[in-house]
Amino acid sequence: MPRLYFDANASVPPHPEAVEAMRKAMVEDWANPTSTHREGQRARFRLEEARREIAASLGVAPGELVFCSSATEALHLLVRGLWPALGDRPAAVFPGEHSACLNPLRDWTRVAWLPEVPEGCATVVQMAANNETGILYVMPQVPGAVRVKDCAQAWGKVPVDLSDCDAAVFSGHKMGGPRGSALLWLRPGLPWEAVMEGPQERRRRGGTEDLPAILGLAAAVRHLTERQSLNASLVTMRDGLEAEILGWNRGIEVIGKDTPRLPNTSALLLRGRNGEAVQAALDLAGFAVSTGSACHSGAVKPSHAITTLGYSSEEARSVVRLSFLPDARPAEVEALAAALKRLT
Ligand code: PLP
Repeated sequence: MPRLYFDANASVPPHPEAVEAMRKAMVEDWANPTSTHREGQRARFRLEEARREIAASLGVAPGELVFCSSATEALHLLVRGLWPALGDRPAAVFPGEHSACLNPLRDWTRVAWLPEVPEGCATVVQMAANNETGILYVMPQVPGAVRVKDCAQAWGKVPVDLSDCDAAVFSGHKMGGPRGSALLWLRPGLPWEAVMEGPQERRRRGGTEDLPAILGLAAAVRHLTERQSLNASLVTMRDGLEAEILGWNRGIEVIGKDTPRLPNTSALLLRGRNGEAVQAALDLAGFAVSTGSACHSGAVKPSHAITTLGYSSEEARSVVRLSFLPDARPAEVEALAAALKRLT
């Protein structure tokens, strides 16, 4: 049997048209977009065309987007860039945020965990969807604060609304774009300054733009609506799988079961079992799944995204995350259910 991949929240295969756009760019548009000669100007034209296309899909102005190499980088540029103007005031942050977001916040004088909103709060940071549980979150209303949204997991899976935030980040490799492609969106007029200076990206992110990755991202964005509806239709299969698992009466819990969640994600709490061991057994049986965030795999630390919900460290170590690719088929999900039944 071919291997079956249920770790879409870690990364998904790039869309074939993204691969082709990248290949073409490497052959034809390899020149430096900053160069003033004809080759460079052609690369610049392609770059700006991609920016316009992606901006239109997000409903923002092209000049508000900064191309980055990962959502991690975008979050660092964003949070560190707000710090000079705002860092001496408190930030209110969702405690289940990805480490990519929590790490740059270490410089801030005070970080409060939402729902606490301290007096004089300068910025509020809330992810749209959690990578480990798939739980969807609403941006808290904090008058006067810069509202930062991490859309890395939501993009391509559910509609993304930028009307309730001032800055957001997006990751390409979670939605059919290539690794090395990501976006930072900044509403004009934010008290933000560049921390990686250079002439590129309107002086907001120095470094020669990775045109193949950017053109690959634009190609993936052309298929975003289709991807989103494929993801939406996964909910029936995902809920069916969860109903079957719960029907085994083995004390398994679905984290966030009754909360709005990404349609492709199921975080299973296998009480009394070690999540890493179940993941390894599934791997040997031909299934790629994850325990918590891929960025933490291999680390023995229990996932803070789970403990934040009130679960113990022991329980957090018993979680296995299933995240379906948009084109997952019923037979594949049935095979996964059978393997889980054998191994839990
Ligand atoms: N934010 C969230 C919610 C994520 O799930 C991830 C990656 O798993 C990131 C940020 C970082 O994204 P990237 O891999 O593009 O750095």
